[in-house]
Parts: sequence; structure tokens; C-alpha cells
Amino acid sequence: MIIRRKTKQIQVGGVAVGGDSPISVQSMTNTDTRDVEQTVAQICRLQAAGCDIVRVAVLDNEAALAIKAIQEKISIPLIADIHFDSRLAIAAMENGADGIRINPGNLGGEEKIALVVAAAKLHGVPIRVGVNSGSIEKDLLKTHGYPTPDNAEALIESAMRNVRLVEKHGYDKIKISIKSADVLTTINSYQQLSKTTDYPLHLGVTEAGGLIAGTVKSSVALGILLSKGIGDTFRISLTRDPVEEVRVGFELLRSLKIRERGPELISCPTCGRTQIDLFGLAEEVERFVQTMETPLKVAVMGCVVNGPGEARQADIGVAGGNGVGIIFKKGEVWKKVHEDDLLNIFMAELKKMEEEGQKERNSAKS
Ligand code: SF4
Repeated sequence: MIIRRKTKQIQVGGVAVGGDSPISVQSMTNTDTRDVEQTVAQICRLQAAGCDIVRVAVLDNEAALAIKAIQEKISIPLIADIHFDSRLAIAAMENGADGIRINPGNLGGEEKIALVVAAAKLHGVPIRVGVNSGSIEKDLLKTHGYPTPDNAEALIESAMRNVRLVEKHGYDKIKISIKSADVLTTINSYQQLSKTTDYPLHLGVTEAGGLIAGTVKSSVALGILLSKGIGDTFRISLTRDPVEEVRVGFELLRSLKIRERGPELISCPTCGRTQIDLFGLAEEVERFVQTMETPLKVAVMGCVVNGPGEARQADIGVAGGNGVGIIFKKGEVWKKVHEDDLLNIFMAELKKMEEEGQKERNSAKS
């Protein structure tokens, strides 16, 4: 059982982060924030995939102003990511950002930090103090050396120094991230940081890579941390469509039995016993289950020798035979159909189950 580390709770728009709130899944748009239409379209896709909090890059005043129009069309909290320019941080908050991600030390001095913190207080906006291995102050690197798996001192000290810059102005709606591109450094740093502070922690491996490398690196680092109860919110960084980041995020939470969303897909790797186009079938089913919200177990298996048995816990599954497909429910055979009809009949049943799940969710709400 995972025992969650106790942290303070902050509010990012309508989403609580830290304390006993659910671990939230974040992502970041890769559109030009000034292009409201494109940015809203991407955020809506992220929302549909289950993204809890979205971050946008704010590079200039036009992007800060665009936040207002974006906020009118989305319903998840929006965080403005800002570097170096305190005026942009203030403008983003004035235009409705639910949170800002800054590195206070690079805002240009004490006076500017004070102005940003005053604006955060005024608008009730939390601040993520985000430190990366690449952004550590020179004096800390000189004293502690560059972060390695055995030495997280510079990262921790940099984060806490930046946190103190905010606290000094009487503000504590803070969460912290200390990102590295190295898995072991990430694990060690967050473990140490979690012993140093009780502010909520935003986890992530920065510049993790493409779909495969990025998923593996992030899942190893974040999986280990989350399994130790460390981490209140996270982003899986992938050089990909950000929607994939959200999907990987929920699979990670599901695999640790922390949180689930939509169906779990169980599919066999295929072997010499497979006599149907299982890859094609699995792809179609996977595409559809990504649009579903009902937490079902769905199995796609290559044969009836092991299929139903291996997926006995599945709510619905399909197993290939010789020119036929066996559809089973809860491990018992439900229907045997010709291979040509298999996909249509299986998908129709899945859709029915999703509609039933939707009705149940609606009646639970009312
Ligand atoms: S379920 Fe059947 S086809 Fe799939 S790997 Fe197992 S034995 Fe092979």
C-alpha cells in the first residue's frame, strides 16, 4: 500500500494540489499561445483525454493577453509558464491565469519578485517554483557541483533559495519542481526534497525524449517516487502530441492503483497460435477505449487456449480462433462470431457498455 507523504494543499483554479487531493495529471501546450484558436483546440483535446491542469508558454505580452480569451473557452485550470520577465507574470495573472510557473531568481531582482508576489496575493494565484538542472545559480554549482545521482545538493538548495524569495514576501501558496533529464538524479533529488519541505511537489523528468524513451524514463522515475508516496502532481514530458503525455500519465497512475480513468486494455503479445489479425483489432479497440470514461477491463487476446482464462477479470474481451472470434464477458464465452463481423459486434457492445457507464455516472451526479 502506498502511504502518501503529507503536504500542504494549494488550489490551482478548481483543482486542489497536495494534501489528500488526487494526484493531478498535467500537460503543456505546444501551440503558439497567441494563437487562441489553436491553443484552445489543443487544450480541449487535452481536457477530453483527462488532463487536470494545463500549462502554456507566455513569451510576450500578446501571449499574456491571449490568456483571457483562452480561459473563456476552456474548463480546466491554466498555468502561465514565464521566464525572466516579471511584467509578463503580472500580466498573465491579470488576464486570468490560475497559476504561474516561474524561477523567482531569474526575474531580475528583489523589487520585481515583490511585485510578482503582490500580484499573486491579489489574484490568489499559486506559484510553482520550478528549478531545472540547467538553471542552477553559478555560486551553488561552484559550492555543490553539478547535480548527479549521488549529489542533489545544488538542485535542492536552488529550489529552497527560490522558495525563500517568495516566502520573504509573506506568501506560501507554493509548489516546487526540481527537474533533471537524468532518471536517478530525479529520484534522488525529489526524495531529498520531500524530507526538506512540506510544500506540494510537481514531479517530472525534463527533456525525457520521444514516446518510447520518454515514457520509460518518466515511468521509472515517477513510478518509483509515486510508489513511495512522493509527488502531488506531475507531467510526463514527451516529444509528441501532448495528449499522449496525459494518456501515459493515467496509465502510470493506474499501474500503481493510485487513480484510474477509462478502461484498462489487456492485450496479448500474439504468438504462433494467433490466427486472426490481432494487431489490427487491438489498434481499433485501443483507439476506441481512449475515448471511453467507464473504468472497464477490456481484453484483446490472440486465442481461446489462454485468452479467456488470462483475461478472466476482464469485463469484456475478444479471443481469436480459426476464422472466428470469441467474445467473452467476465471470462465466460458470450458470443462466437465470424472474423469479418468480429470488430463491429465487439465495438457495438463496448459502446453500449460505455453508454450504460455514462448513465450511471450521470445518475450518481444528480
Ligand atoms: S493469448 Fe494465445 S495467442 Fe496470445 S500470446 Fe497467449 S497463447 Fe499466444
